[in-house]
Parts: sequence; C-alpha cells; structure tokens
Amino acid sequence: MKENRIYNFNAGPAALPLCVLEEIQDSFLNFRGSGMSVTELSHRSKWFDDIINDAVDRTRRILNLGDKFHVLFIQGGASLQFAMVPMNLLHAGQSADYINTGTWSQNAIKEARLLGKSIKVAASSEDKDFTYIPKNFSFTPDARYAHLTSNNTIKGTQWASFPDAGNIPLVADMSSDIFSKPMDMKPFGLIYAGAQKNLGIAGVCMVIIRKDLLENIPATLPSMLKYSTYASSNSMYNTPPCFAIYATQLVLKWLEETVGGLDKMAELNRKKAQTLYRVIDSGGFYRGTAEADSRSRMNVTFRLPNETLESLFVKEALKNGMEGLTGHRSVGGCRASIYNPTTVQAVEGLADFMKTFASANG
Ligand SMILES: *Cc1c(COP(=O)(O)O)cnc(C)c1O
Repeated sequence: MKENRIYNFNAGPAALPLCVLEEIQDSFLNFRGSGMSVTELSHRSKWFDDIINDAVDRTRRILNLGDKFHVLFIQGGASLQFAMVPMNLLHAGQSADYINTGTWSQNAIKEARLLGKSIKVAASSEDKDFTYIPKNFSFTPDARYAHLTSNNTIKGTQWASFPDAGNIPLVADMSSDIFSKPMDMKPFGLIYAGAQKNLGIAGVCMVIIRKDLLENIPATLPSMLKYSTYASSNSMYNTPPCFAIYATQLVLKWLEETVGGLDKMAELNRKKAQTLYRVIDSGGFYRGTAEADSRSRMNVTFRLPNETLESLFVKEALKNGMEGLTGHRSVGGCRASIYNPTTVQAVEGLADFMKTFASANG
C-alpha cells in the first residue's frame, strides 16, 4: 500500500485498483506519446476510438456477449436509466413488472410512473424493511419486461440467482455488482450500471442491450434519450464522457489481465464478504441487517449495540486508516462497501479492527 493511501470502503464513488490510478497518472500529461493529456484528446481521434473500442471488446469478452447485444456508454448515471428504460421499451397499451427491493428499485418504479407508464409491482420486500430478496412470486404473462435491482447497495441484499421469467426479458440495475461474478446473459434484455461503484469513475453509465429491443423505440423521443442513437454511433453521437470511459477501460483491463476474469473475481469477492460476515456473526456484538440467504457480497451492512457505539466505530476506524463505514443516510448503521477493487488485505484489516473494537467495547 502506498504510504498515504487508506482502506476505502466508500459506497460510490469508491475505491479503484491502484494500478488503474497509476496508469491514469502516467497518461494524464502525455497519453501514449501523443503529447496530450488523455483529457485533451479529441473524441474523434484514433486514440479515443481505441479506448472506447477496447472497453466494448473487453465487456463482450468478459460477459460472453456474442453478437446479440450492444454495449453503450451514456451520461446521466443509473438514475437516467430509470426513465430511459420505460421510455424506450414500454409502449402504449403495454405493461412491465418491477420488483421492489429498496430505494433504487423504488426510484426506478417512480420514474416509470412519472412517465405515465403501466407498471405492476410483481414482488416486494418492503414488508420487512427490504431485508431480504423475494422468493416464490410470479410474473405477469404479458409483461414487456421485468425489472429488478441485482444488488441493493443501501440495504445490503443481493440476488444470489435470478428469477425465471420465461420469455419475459429481465432488465437489471446492476450498478453495484456488475462484473462481480460470472453471469448468464441469456435471460437479460438490458442491464445498466453507473460506473462509479464497480466499474470506474462517476460520469458514465454502461448499458448492455439486446439488439432486437432497439426495433420499436418511439421515433418521437429526443435523440439523446434513444438507445438507438447510442447504438448507431458507438456512443459518440455527441461528446461522450471521455475520461470516465477511459477509466472504465482500464478497470476492465485490470479485471481481465490482472485479476484473470469473473471466476477469479467472484472467488475473491466471496472470500472478502465471508471474512466480514464471520466477524459479524461471532460474539454477538455486531448484527447483520440482511437475512443470511439474501446477504450482499458487495455491501456489508451491520449494526452495533447502539448509535453511540456506531459513531465511535466509524471515528476509530478512520483513525486506523479506514474510510467510508457509515451506513447510507436513509438507514443509519454501518456499511462496508467491498466492490471488486477493494483488496483482500483491506478487508482483513477491517475484520481485525472490528474484532479489536468489539473486545474493547463489548
Ligand atoms: C448508486 C446506485 C444508483 C444511482 O446511481 P447514479 O449513477 O448516481 O444515478 C442506482 N442504482 C443502484 C443499485 C445504485 O447502487
């Protein structure tokens, strides 16, 4: 670890691999001998073409996308996708199913309804304060798509496997767990992910969309809100968020070449999460907030015996070089976000601190 770098457990923007930051630093003043900063390159240059094409190619390889999907880069974060999905995919007389597993699902539902779209909530975990992932529900047979949030960043729950929706395409907000484990793309029509959690820096959202879903996009939508605009221009209809796309490219390169792909990544993520949940489950000082079979491997949420101890915990952690352990402002408690770039070493450091803190204050 570099002298002045701490263990970063922020929920997003979040930790990046050190080698990615170093490569950004190297290319910041002079990108590959161009004599220009990476931030000064024209988006119509061969240099930038190579960056965005490499990001797309790596995404295709890592997720085994074949040629059925487009990989797009869109500004506006995951929050714009809450609106773009129904705008583009849901037409007059059609309805979509949504699964409500917390704040981000609720925001997706809210945006669809603001647009006057017909939405059915097929399942919800609101009855138990979103502490679990719903099981045993069914989809509406003629739903145009079924939307879910794959990892609930705030409540610390995650789908361990996805529901079988038959021929209904799944649409997933994967902002906080994309590329964290291998996945089968077959059931999916569209996935989207704001980059600032598992994929890079703030300013861009990755959208992966099945090509046939581009066929019925309403012609009257503004160009910037149509997926087809991005698909037909390699995401460069207007000036794209070049620097954010560059950071994503480097994170994907790190994932492929340094980590060694999604199987390896998943194994590391499983190990990191287990390290923390083991501490939480022993000794009775900490209490996990999510039901055991719904626990997230990306956002580990937990409580201490009282709020005074929670704020002391966060304060002491910071003194020990660990940042970002406060729970989301809407729920309180503590949260350790351990996305792909968070090292095993950082997680073990936190686990040790948690044990020490529990024996001193339990
Ligand atoms: C952070 C987050 C969002 C919001 O992302 P923005 O890019 O800030 O719009 C949406 N969904 C999930 C699951 C998130 O974790």
